[in-house]
Amino acid sequence: MQDLTKQETIALREKYIGQSCQLFFRDNPLKIVKGKGQYLYDENGDQYLDCINNVAHVGHCHPDVVEAGCAQMAELNTNSRFLHDNIVLCAKRIVSTMPRGLSVCFFVNSGSEANDLALRLAQIHTGRKDVIALEHAYHGHLTSLIEISHYKFNLPGGIGKKDHVHVASIPDPYRGKYRNDKYGDEELGELYAEEVRQICENAKNTNGGGISAFIAESMISCGGQVIPPKNYFQQVYKHVRAAGGVCIADEVQVGFGRVGRHWWAFEDYNVRPDIVTMGKPMGNGHPIAAVVTTPEIAASFLGTGVEYFNTYGGNPVSCAIANAVFDTIERENLRERAITVGEYLLDCCQQLAKKHHFVGDVRGAGLFVGLDIVEDRLSRRPNRPCAEYVRQRLREAHILISLDGPESNIIKLKPPMVFSKENVNEVVAALDSVLEEYKHKIDSDPFETPASAEGRSNIKKLRPHKSVFEKLIKSM
Ligand code: PMP
Repeated sequence: MQDLTKQETIALREKYIGQSCQLFFRDNPLKIVKGKGQYLYDENGDQYLDCINNVAHVGHCHPDVVEAGCAQMAELNTNSRFLHDNIVLCAKRIVSTMPRGLSVCFFVNSGSEANDLALRLAQIHTGRKDVIALEHAYHGHLTSLIEISHYKFNLPGGIGKKDHVHVASIPDPYRGKYRNDKYGDEELGELYAEEVRQICENAKNTNGGGISAFIAESMISCGGQVIPPKNYFQQVYKHVRAAGGVCIADEVQVGFGRVGRHWWAFEDYNVRPDIVTMGKPMGNGHPIAAVVTTPEIAASFLGTGVEYFNTYGGNPVSCAIANAVFDTIERENLRERAITVGEYLLDCCQQLAKKHHFVGDVRGAGLFVGLDIVEDRLSRRPNRPCAEYVRQRLREAHILISLDGPESNIIKLKPPMVFSKENVNEVVAALDSVLEEYKHKIDSDPFETPASAEGRSNIKKLRPHKSVFEKLIKSM
């Protein structure tokens, strides 16, 4: 039930909500009042295809997840200082998806809390403070995480780099420090990992006395949907462990089967982290997150004598919801779906890249896909105006995508896992027609820079009849 008009909602938000809180399409925000599957609905009942929401993992408001939460809420909700089946069953379930040795869980309420606890565990276990994180990485909004998130601390108004933080180059084969036009994948992995080895070596001589942890997303979302070289994590983990540090895999965005082949994206790299953090998809929109670690690290934490307590972490309602998410992923074969629909999506986007020189690179795994939008293929210079134009025009076509990467030129596709091939057809055809349109815009006015074309909205209605979409797809 929404009692306010959209204008009233905007006015109240401006008055009472911090202006620094992010809002999609700030100049003309969407008021979303309902969700179902891979679709969102605004206050007028208009439907939007959601390609952004990796949180609504099994689909918005999945009836079984809603039912599990409601039933448990009607029965009991309390903190985890009493015995309850839901938390232990959820922990057992998580551990059953993990490699051997990762068998102890801590429940929290958000990805940020999970990463904060992961750092604390690593620091206690190693007796050191220094952390290696990746360039452009984001690991959460708590102070401890802003400190290690280059994506935030490095902004002009950011807090800057603290002494205990070490930033390793993002292992981005397309636009990183070492690139795939010069090196093969294996060499790239070694070059990027070597940088981590050097950081470990140098850190031995600083006040911190060495590295406590290396933390990275197994596939790097905020850095621009980056798929690190195949051997990167194996090499990095070897160097970090040799230096006495522990390895943390942040699976907050890419976990829970999004990559299809595995439950966890780190498995694609054949490594076993010492600590794994998970969040977003775990509650399908409800706040629940977790940290999984080894008995040895958990024992160090216990050894401090300081008990851990988290009022809401692992409460019966949150765990009932997480268990229902697990059930739904399995019952609806959503990992298999991520493989088939994801491969189709990747393939269609690659076809798109053959046709549009603005699409410099297409990469992804499962339903985690990125299109790197460039000015030209040779320079690989990021083309933010084009990416922004696409984002705005797709919104008008009622398709929601987001942009990421340090230059905001990466089109991110990470939809709910119920996304279908028909949805792919719709998105790809819309991308095709908007990229064509952008090319004409730039070509038709030699004085028009991409930047001046941005945001211009003398725009024809973009929502061709379905058969037009189908024709476009077939012609590619
Ligand atoms: N890690 C990663 C990789 C994330 O993308 C995010 C959120 N975008 C977080 C951690 C923090 O999660 P939360 O917003 O749930 O605190």
